[in-house]
Amino acid sequence: PAAVPHKPRVFCLYPVDDSVKEYAEQWFDFTCEPNPQVSRWREEAEAVMVRSNKVTPSDVKQLSPAFKYVGKHGVGVDAIAVKELNAKGIKVMNTPGVNASAVAELALTLSLCLARDVAQIDRRIRSGETVTKADGGSTGFQLTSKTLGLVGGGNIGYQLGKMFYGAFNAKVIVYDPHLHPSMSQKWAELLPASHFQRVNTLDEMLAASDVVSIHVPLLESTTNLIGEEQLRKMKKTALLINTARGGIVNEDALLKALEEGWIAGAGIDAFSIEPPTSKDFGGLINHPRVISTPHIGAASLDVIRITALAVVDHLVEAFRG
Ligand code: NAD
Repeated sequence: PAAVPHKPRVFCLYPVDDSVKEYAEQWFDFTCEPNPQVSRWREEAEAVMVRSNKVTPSDVKQLSPAFKYVGKHGVGVDAIAVKELNAKGIKVMNTPGVNASAVAELALTLSLCLARDVAQIDRRIRSGETVTKADGGSTGFQLTSKTLGLVGGGNIGYQLGKMFYGAFNAKVIVYDPHLHPSMSQKWAELLPASHFQRVNTLDEMLAASDVVSIHVPLLESTTNLIGEEQLRKMKKTALLINTARGGIVNEDALLKALEEGWIAGAGIDAFSIEPPTSKDFGGLINHPRVISTPHIGAASLDVIRITALAVVDHLVEAFRG
């Protein structure tokens, strides 16, 4: 971003790495002080960066008259007295969508590993089995020129679509009845008409896709969205990836689908009970065509740094007015 008019006094109330500090110091009179006992942010700050820190109504009363912005690392603002801040004309800014590429990369990883049977072959080799190329390699398929079906074309879905198109020349089908017009616009700019389709029914997308990846929030309308009926509509060769939330895919139906060969595999980062263990999901997590991870979608090292940089950017923009 371009320079801000003056160097505002900004405190960060959680630890950030040196690259974030150096970046922030370009724009701000910046202090990173994660210890609230020591920090003089209430008296001195014009803005504050918070992650899991609380900003209470009592904090708000003590703020200096120069205080203008709270930059929230991540999305949830439930620990912040937003109403009290807004009443004083102070704006709270969060960072939606910043973890999107990390989650999309995990969805891509699960897709690739399942397509080429990587995890299963590795497990067999580790267990002492001699796996030959003809034996171990016979089931693999490529993602090149295949069709990705997205349930939800928001931030994460978009990043995954971009990866599938860019890396594999894949066609992308989006089922998202509530897609925001700004996202529609982004999709139209990203993909040629030959590689993009928006469909009005989930069934249409399920029947046409080689990889179906879920990127919707858990809502009443998305609970059990993928059950027996939907799984039966998928191609027998298709993969199902869920890095969204447990409860969107009916896990009993998914196990049945895998056991009876209605679909070819599942990558699951989101379970209805977490973390996933054999006690709750013995059949599913031990199935040879399943790869499971314990809700690690957004847990990359980069996400923490990138999100902190995004908070700084939001503050810079705000101070520039
Ligand atoms: P987003 O809000 O940008 O996009 C969600 C999309 O879902 C929106 O376009 C919305 O219109 C669409 N949608 C809502 N209801 C729908 C329905 N019934 N059918 C089809 N589409 C519907 O959100 P995002 O950043 O892309 O994140 C998607 C989800 O991923 C989040 O809600 C969260 O549950 C999950 N998530 C998981 C992790 C992880 O660690 N695995 C991390 C971040 C987010």
